[in-house]
Amino acid sequence: MAYEAELSAAIDAVEKASRLCEAVQRRLVAGSALEKGDRSPVTVADFGAQAVVSQLLALEFPHDPLVGEEDADALRQDSNAELRGKVIDGVHSILPDLSGDEILAAIDRGTYSGGATGRHWTLDPIDGTKGFLRLDQYAVALALIEDGEVVLGVLGCPNLPHDAERPDAGRGCLFWGVEGSGARWRPIGGDTTAPIFVDEVTEPGRARFCESVEVAHSNQSHSAQVAARLGITRPPFRIDSQCKYAAVGRGDASIYLRLPTRADYVEKIWDHAAGFRVVTEAGGRVTDVTGAPLDFSLGRTLSSNKGVIVTNGPMHDRVLEAVQQVLGL
Ligand code: AMP
Ligand code: MG
Repeated sequence: MAYEAELSAAIDAVEKASRLCEAVQRRLVAGSALEKGDRSPVTVADFGAQAVVSQLLALEFPHDPLVGEEDADALRQDSNAELRGKVIDGVHSILPDLSGDEILAAIDRGTYSGGATGRHWTLDPIDGTKGFLRLDQYAVALALIEDGEVVLGVLGCPNLPHDAERPDAGRGCLFWGVEGSGARWRPIGGDTTAPIFVDEVTEPGRARFCESVEVAHSNQSHSAQVAARLGITRPPFRIDSQCKYAAVGRGDASIYLRLPTRADYVEKIWDHAAGFRVVTEAGGRVTDVTGAPLDFSLGRTLSSNKGVIVTNGPMHDRVLEAVQQVLGL
């Protein structure tokens, strides 16, 4: 299989970063209730996960740059010494030999500008920070982009049930897809892998769609209108992060709608690259609301796209048509 070494390094890095996030979230549960607006736990896990993934990739592929969501500027400030200490402690639970300076440098490797030539990785160390703080769903999302194309994606979903029908039967999933090789999953910490496939629903009326929990991230009133046009009667499945791509990829839902809330918002490549490759390898289709493919070659953002529509494939054109009618496109 192509990209075997890259896939193995990416899965290892995402699994270790997922463990760091889980440890921080466990402390969040054990600690006193979080004060409203206190984002420090997610900040520790966010920086820590980026340091771990960046460092592990740099050891295997020292010449590959990284487009990461975070940089270490804020952490270097004297006023953030306590936060910096917590990040360093968190990273030491996974990579005990790194110095504080090496950890900050690993985070700062994420400042690459991306683009259409050569290869680079893109990372969202915690996608779905709001979900993380609600002790709900979030994802560690890592992808490899070569000449503007996402060739490999890995999603770590530490709170996602192994089986959506049996949420108490075990949680924590890793999903991956390599261009042309299909998509697979295994439990975090497990060793048995299995392929995943989108569902085979062709009648929109029987479909279930997923969308963001956060109303600021996707227009839920527009998605309700799209659902009504398509005859969808099941309530939306609201779930944070790129877990939505995994949900369509393994057939928990047939459609993921991310409809723009404001004209000036530009989607970030790290919010979509890994999920895109996982769901397309599972048989799904992804476009923006105009029907254009997502263009990962333009730097750190999807600046030529508006919104995102993901389907199991057969329903894509009908979903797109309904979206365009609702949005007046
Ligand atoms: P989700 O968990 O699907 O709601 O998406 C989380 C991601 O939404 C975050 O990583 C942000 O980068 C992104 N985001 C922030 N503001 C917006 C917005 N106005 N529209 C779409 N996505 C956004
Ligand atoms: Mg994100």
